[in-house]
Amino acid sequence: MNIQKSESLYQEALDVIVGGVNSPSRSFRAVGGGAPIFMKKAKGAYFWDEDGNRYIDYLAAFGPIILGHAHPAVHEAIVEASMNGVLYGTPTEKEVRFAQMLREAIPSMEQIRFVNSGTEAVMTTIRLARAYTGRDKILKFAGCYHGHSDLVLVAAGSGPSTLGIPDSAGIPQSIAQEVITIPYNDINALEEALNHWGNQIAAVLVEPLVGNFGIVPPVPGFLEKVNELVHQAGGLVIYDEVITGFRFHYGGIQTIFGVEPDLTALGKIIGGGLPIGAYGGRKEIMDKVAPMGPMYQAGTMAGNPLSISAGMACLQALSKPGLYEELSRKGKRLADAIVKLADEYRLSVTVNQYGGALTVYFTDQPVVDYASAQATDGERFAQFFRLMLEQGIYLAPSKYEAWFITTAHSEQDVDETIRAVDHAFSQMSNK
Ligand code: PMP
Repeated sequence: MNIQKSESLYQEALDVIVGGVNSPSRSFRAVGGGAPIFMKKAKGAYFWDEDGNRYIDYLAAFGPIILGHAHPAVHEAIVEASMNGVLYGTPTEKEVRFAQMLREAIPSMEQIRFVNSGTEAVMTTIRLARAYTGRDKILKFAGCYHGHSDLVLVAAGSGPSTLGIPDSAGIPQSIAQEVITIPYNDINALEEALNHWGNQIAAVLVEPLVGNFGIVPPVPGFLEKVNELVHQAGGLVIYDEVITGFRFHYGGIQTIFGVEPDLTALGKIIGGGLPIGAYGGRKEIMDKVAPMGPMYQAGTMAGNPLSISAGMACLQALSKPGLYEELSRKGKRLADAIVKLADEYRLSVTVNQYGGALTVYFTDQPVVDYASAQATDGERFAQFFRLMLEQGIYLAPSKYEAWFITTAHSEQDVDETIRAVDHAFSQMSNK
């Protein structure tokens, strides 16, 4: 495959953009390095790169593009909104209508505030939980990603009840020590942490289904236990639904699981591909937010007409009956085919699939938490990633990411993908 233009653009990019990319997850470092592919245009389920190669896109821009690229309704909404001015700095009717749509779909979000990214949404829910409870500490789960604000870039210490260590340079130890990180799906570790720190914990931050060390569902009873124990200890439960919101049905995954948090953070899909975030929850808690209360949060671009219009158009399209069943069916067809092929080629592969999202791990073990995701074979993944890329299938360049099926992926696209997996596995197999 000729990727000459990507290679030369990468050299220019390295000179002027740090690392050549505007987000580290776009780099190919985790899959052996070299030039990432520079995309030129996208339509439906496809990408075309600068050299004219076509790819079936399973990245979906790390989640938001659930309707495929350049969806006509979203496109029209953006064009129409842009004709009336892109930013007012005043309230608009559309913001109210969109907040009403979100609340109808996710009833635990009694009151809502729009922001510009998932990072901002999560960051603010933490500040709000601290303002509401008067406590400082945060409990979170290892390997979950909640954006790049200081508090959530803190990793686990060496044992379940140790305080965090910074996961990034530039985060003060004084902040890291306010964060406790425990393994996902581990109720004993949760009990232990709460026994130790319970009366100091403002909130537990949860991905109700993990998307950030691959797709990892909660074990039965886990989310219920989180609610029960954290509430007993006087803390709040925050769901980070930045990935899961409107991904698996029309609403939050909290509605599917039947467990409600106190606060929810949203992003990605609700902007239809434009920058957005939102947070919300019980009115009594949201009343702490300025101008109603003492917790300050603001944004020049928040609730801008373009993002709101794109988000509304996206959600309207997603409300079509049967849409999510279709995504799930395709997700399962793909996952089942990959498992079958791995068996045929005697490769150690575990596929975690939930609805229209899946992760292919190179391991013979189940993946239920970060440690088991870390233990999967990154070199095998890198080899698989390259073999798929050469055949025009674009996967996220990391063993920790998900494949996202969009409404634009046709049965033929899924067939073509399965044929590519067959070829890739045949190259990887030494049977
Ligand atoms: N939370 C989760 C669960 C995410 O997956 C992400 C982004 N991948 C974020 C928060 C941060 O969102 P953003 O990149 O829009 O700031």
